[in-house]
Amino acid sequence: MVLYESTRGGSERITSAEAIKRGIAPDGGLYVPCNIEKLSLEDIRELVEMTYPERAFAILKRFLDDFSDEELAECVNSAYSNKFTHEDTAPVVELNESLFVLELWHGPTCAFKDMALQILPHLLVKAIKKTGEKSKVIILVATSGDTGKAALEGFADVEGTGIIVFYPENGVSEVQKYQMITQTGSNVSVIGVKGNFDDAQTGVKRIFADQELKSFMEDRNLRFSSANSINWGRLVPQIVYYFSAYADLIKTNRIDLGEKINFVVPTGNFGNILAGYYALKMGLPVNRLICASNDNNVLTDFIRTGCYDKRREFIKTISPSMDILISSNLERLLYEVADRDGTQVSSWMKQLFENGYYDIGKKYRDEVRKRFWAGWSNQEETLITIECMYEEYKYVLDTHTAVAVDVYDKYVITTGDLTPAVVVSTASPFKFSHSVCKALFGEEKIADKSEFELLEMLSKNCGLPVPDALAGLDKKKIIHETVCEKDGMKDAVIQKLLKWE
Ligand SMILES: *Cc1c(COP(=O)(O)O)cnc(C)c1O
Repeated sequence: MVLYESTRGGSERITSAEAIKRGIAPDGGLYVPCNIEKLSLEDIRELVEMTYPERAFAILKRFLDDFSDEELAECVNSAYSNKFTHEDTAPVVELNESLFVLELWHGPTCAFKDMALQILPHLLVKAIKKTGEKSKVIILVATSGDTGKAALEGFADVEGTGIIVFYPENGVSEVQKYQMITQTGSNVSVIGVKGNFDDAQTGVKRIFADQELKSFMEDRNLRFSSANSINWGRLVPQIVYYFSAYADLIKTNRIDLGEKINFVVPTGNFGNILAGYYALKMGLPVNRLICASNDNNVLTDFIRTGCYDKRREFIKTISPSMDILISSNLERLLYEVADRDGTQVSSWMKQLFENGYYDIGKKYRDEVRKRFWAGWSNQEETLITIECMYEEYKYVLDTHTAVAVDVYDKYVITTGDLTPAVVVSTASPFKFSHSVCKALFGEEKIADKSEFELLEMLSKNCGLPVPDALAGLDKKKIIHETVCEKDGMKDAVIQKLLKWE
C-alpha cells in the first residue's frame, strides 16, 4: 500500500485517505507518498485509447490505493464525465509541429483549478467516511479570485459538506465577483469582507485556530477543512493531465511511444509543475519541465542559483494567479531532491520563515537543474506575446499562458532545444479579457468598457463564443449579498452554521 509521510521528517506514516482528510501534517509539513510506482511504456500505451476519466482512474489508483475501485470510479466520473464543456476534458491543441497547448480550462469556472477542485470534494467525502469520521465537513476559503469560485463549484450540493468563501469586497474583478455571488447550491455561502485579501486570509486562519468555535463545531458534529493546494487530494489529480497530454500526442501520431517531450508551466504556488515532476518520476518520458514566472520571479532565481529569497517587492501583475512570493509546494520538490531528508527540509523552511531566504547549495541545485529550466516574462512581453500568437496562429492566449509561451521562446533561443513542447494553458482568455483585449485591440479601444462588454468584444473580434459559465453573468440573480467587517468573520460563520442546522 502507498503510505504518506511529512516533508518535515515526522516518522508517522498514514494512508492517502488520512492525508487528504488532514490536509497538512501536524509538524507543518506537507504529505508526500513514501514510494512512487513506475509505469512501463506498455502501461502508457494503454492510456492512449482511454477517455479522460479512465486515464484519471488508471493514474490515481497508483496513489490512492486505500480507495476501492468502485469509490475511485465514482470520484473520477462525478468530476470529469459531464462537468467539462469539451468532450476530451483536457484537449491538446497543435500550434506547429513542435509546439502544443494543453487546455485545462474547459471546466465550470474556466480556469485550471477546476481540474483538481472538481474531484477533491468527492475524494474528501470518501476519505472522511473511510477514516471513521461522522462529522460534516465545512470548507472555509479565503480567495483573491479564482480559487473561491472553483471551490464553490466543486463543493456545491456535495452531500456531507458545506462551504463558506470569503473574498475582499473590492479586491476581485467584476467577473470574479459575479461568478461567486451568483453561485447556486444549498450548502454554499459567499461573504464579502471589508478589507483586502490578507485580511480575509488572516481571518480564516484565526477561525481555524479558535477554541470556542472548535467546541461549537464538535457539539454539532461539524469539522473544518481546507481546499488549499497543499492538500495531497488537490495535487494528485493534476498528475493525470501530464499523462493524458502525452497519450494524446501518441494518439495523433505527433510523437512515438517513449519519445521525450518538454512541458512549459505558468507557475505560482508550484503545484501544477510539481505534478509534472511526479509524472516524470512515474516514468513519463519528459526531458525538461520549464518553470515560467511573471515579475514575481523568485522561482526563476531559485532554479538558476539554488537560493530562494522572498525578500523582494510583491508586484501586482496582469497574471494575478501567479503573483506569489512563497511557493508552498516547492517544499515537496526539496524533499525529493534532498533524498527525503526531512530534517534538512525543516531547516530550510525555518530559515525562510526567520530570515526570508535559504540556499540549498550546489549539489542539490544541480539536481533541480537536471529536470527544470526557469525563466520569466514581464508584463509588456506578456502582452506582446498575446498579440504575436494571435497574428501567427489565430490562437488567443490568456495572460498566464502567455507568460509560459514567452518563456518557452526564451528557452528555445537559449538552448536551441526543439524537443516537442506542451505549454500548459491555465485559463480561458475570457477570464482575463481586460488585458487580452488591450493586447489585441489597443488601449483606446477598451477605454471605459465594462468587463462584460469586453467579453463580447473579444468574442466578436476573434470569432470565439463567450464560455457559457461567463455569458450573461451580469444578468444572473445575485444570491449572496452578505458583507462583514474584517473582525466580524467568526460571527458570520456562526450565523451561517446555525442557519444550516
Ligand atoms: C493557480 C493558477 C496558476 C498557478 O498554478 P500553481 O499550481 O499555483 O503554480 C497559474 N495560472 C492560473 C490561471 C491559475 O489559476
